Amino acid sequence: MEQVLTIIRDDMANIRHTKDPGTVRRTKRDDKSHPPTPITVAYGDGIGPEIMDATLRVLDAAGGSVDVETIEIGEAVYARGVTSGIEPSSWESLRRTRVFLKAPITTPQGGGFKSLNVTVRKTLGLFANVRPCPSYAPFIATKHPAMNVVIVRENEEDLYAGIEHRQTDEVVQCLKLYSRPGCERIVRYAFEYASRYGRSKVTCFTKDNIMKVTDGLFHKVFDEVAEEYPGIEHEHWIVDIGAAKLADTPELFDVIVLPNLYGDILSDVSAQIAGSVGLAGSANIGHDVSMFEAIHGSAPRRAGQDAANPSGLMLAAVQMLVHIGQGDAAALMHNAWLRTIEDGVHTYDIYDPSVSVEKVGTRAFADAVIERLGEKPSRLQPVAYAVSTDPIRIDVPVREPQDKDLVGVDVFLDFRGAPDDLGAQLEKHASDLRLVMISNRGQKVYPSGQAETICTDHWRCRFQSPDGGVVTTEQILALLGRLAAAGMPFIKTEGLFNFDGAPGYSLGQGQ
Ligand code: NAD
Repeated sequence: MEQVLTIIRDDMANIRHTKDPGTVRRTKRDDKSHPPTPITVAYGDGIGPEIMDATLRVLDAAGGSVDVETIEIGEAVYARGVTSGIEPSSWESLRRTRVFLKAPITTPQGGGFKSLNVTVRKTLGLFANVRPCPSYAPFIATKHPAMNVVIVRENEEDLYAGIEHRQTDEVVQCLKLYSRPGCERIVRYAFEYASRYGRSKVTCFTKDNIMKVTDGLFHKVFDEVAEEYPGIEHEHWIVDIGAAKLADTPELFDVIVLPNLYGDILSDVSAQIAGSVGLAGSANIGHDVSMFEAIHGSAPRRAGQDAANPSGLMLAAVQMLVHIGQGDAAALMHNAWLRTIEDGVHTYDIYDPSVSVEKVGTRAFADAVIERLGEKPSRLQPVAYAVSTDPIRIDVPVREPQDKDLVGVDVFLDFRGAPDDLGAQLEKHASDLRLVMISNRGQKVYPSGQAETICTDHWRCRFQSPDGGVVTTEQILALLGRLAAAGMPFIKTEGLFNFDGAPGYSLGQGQ
């Protein structure tokens, strides 16, 4: 099965589609100011082919100069038994062009399939997900006409590591992993983005009042990096009240940088309150490769009807043109799109008789944007992009590792019974270590627990040396051996480490 498709369109004079991505053919129209940039394009599933076709037509007419290599992703690839939804050979195209314009795909139902987006993001190190969420009021209804937020979401870490386990009959867990370089990369990107695009403030949301080690690291790195950008205001909010403020008064925010899960949720909230998730594009930025896509899905029920709104993918293509240094074409395309929206030429999903003038389909919407190339919006803010800027590149400084001392162990046990019974049994096997405490779902229940605390069958039992100093791996292995011999085998253990003398673990009192 051929993985690289050939689609040649006569009406796209500036875009060459190639069958063999290794031998890209190029044309260059006279009005092109840039040599063609190789890009990889995937038409996706559902409405994907229609909105990609519309987007490439506008890009071409705006003077975007690209060589297209087309790859196949999604349903057909999953159906061939490729669980990631992307053929191994397609990675070669992505590595070669380093720029991926992707239409949405349909994720198959049932288990055994991996998320294509997560696979692409993590495989290619696309660490920053950038989603501008401006209001287009009064042409698209929103309660927040003054909002103009950009969400910068960390894209690789957090709970999305996907490391999950059922540990006892009652309890499952998911590991939340943050790395110092990962935090630094995304936070630096947010400040660089603000600096590059004239934004005045960067806000960080975390939940570090509860997750002091993980979210605490993100917040700490944010504060450190912010010091290097004295011209940009910075602030931190606890994510719950920050999210409430964002939903209520988004005009108070400018650039917001968030860990993956909060960013996933709040980027959709931001796009929706700005007007519609159907209008937002996003850039997934990596060191080597970057991917650009609409944030909506493949809307299978709308497929093949020439009805879908191509705006999200068009705005993603604008981000792509800026990224590849074709800011002039990006501005032409973006301003013509804004003018089309302002002129009330709307697809069904944003059609509102009170402001819309004409309800159009996908193709006619693209035609309307093409007709307006060279025009600017008169009421919405026109855009301007610098031509030929280099993509933002983040290099995280290499740090000397800190001194790391083992000072104890959390042993996780599967046990049914009362905390004091478990405590009494464990005290007998502590030997040269001290049972410091037992917690259940993070709440300390031994010693001196409260009768009201609801306990499950999943217990964390903390052992440290009696003087609180360094312990050896042999002491811990001996403890685990004693517990196993006593019929209490461990589910898992977590080492307790000090880094440069500071505890690298939660103190475990629950919140
Ligand atoms: P969806 O975004 O495809 O559709 C949600 C609703 O919005 C539907 O009513 C749809 O008709 C409408 N809609 C979406 N995009 C539109 C557009 N451009 N123009 C007009 N109306 C539009 O979400 P879903 O229905 O939950 O998911 C459908 C499929 O897409 C699923 O298989 C899902 O896994 C997949 N998906 C893919 C991506 C991606 O590839 N990046 C993202 C999200 C969902």
